[in-house]
Amino acid sequence: MINVFDKIADSIYFLVSRSMDSNITFIQSGDHHILVDTGTGMNYAALDKYLQNIGSSHSSITDIVLTHSHIDHIGGVIPLVESGSPKIHLHKAEAEPINNGNMNQTLADTFGADLPPLNIEGILEEGTILDFGDIKMKVYHTPGHSLGSICLMILDTGILITGDTLFPGGSFGRTDFPGGDDRALVSSLKRISEMTFEVGLPGHMNAMKFNAKKSAHASYQMAKTMFRM
Ligand SMILES: [Zn+2]
Ligand SMILES: [Zn+2]
Repeated sequence: MINVFDKIADSIYFLVSRSMDSNITFIQSGDHHILVDTGTGMNYAALDKYLQNIGSSHSSITDIVLTHSHIDHIGGVIPLVESGSPKIHLHKAEAEPINNGNMNQTLADTFGADLPPLNIEGILEEGTILDFGDIKMKVYHTPGHSLGSICLMILDTGILITGDTLFPGGSFGRTDFPGGDDRALVSSLKRISEMTFEVGLPGHMNAMKFNAKKSAHASYQMAKTMFRM
């Protein structure tokens, strides 16, 4: 079976990874071609082809929003900046070290990847609104899996991109990488479980297409139990 982008809503597509790559969301809004997370970059040729199937391509990408900077999400930025000039957006807690040349938090070394220096122009914070014309996204800072992990609410769609903070089936992101924090993760999951949304698009595993809030609540309960909070 071939990997394809699944249409979630008008102009919003979701690619579930079958490899080490993170999942990838593609959104088109007017002249903006946006990727949320990019995978490791190892499958960039395939990604280009999948994008072409939905009327875009590597070189058409104008914006890349990263839910956090682990190598399985940020690695794919490299071939994208080589074939175009996308603006990269990342929470300031992870953007600042990267802009200062410190790539440690990406775990690239740990996974034997070679990540060149990057310039992050879009510095995100809690409450930042990413305005892509018809599509607007609101940033929620949800640390725990990493220092600068974010969730993105696509306004007026009921869709929440949850990165590696919330996964389906009562799962959630691990907290044992540098910058991980059990307590912060539990509060982030609590916060997500109190938000209003229908669909959840996680950084790994399948989309939560129905009743994503129920899923969020299950993950919050599970994390509380696991971390004894
Ligand atoms: Zn990940
Ligand atoms: Zn991660």
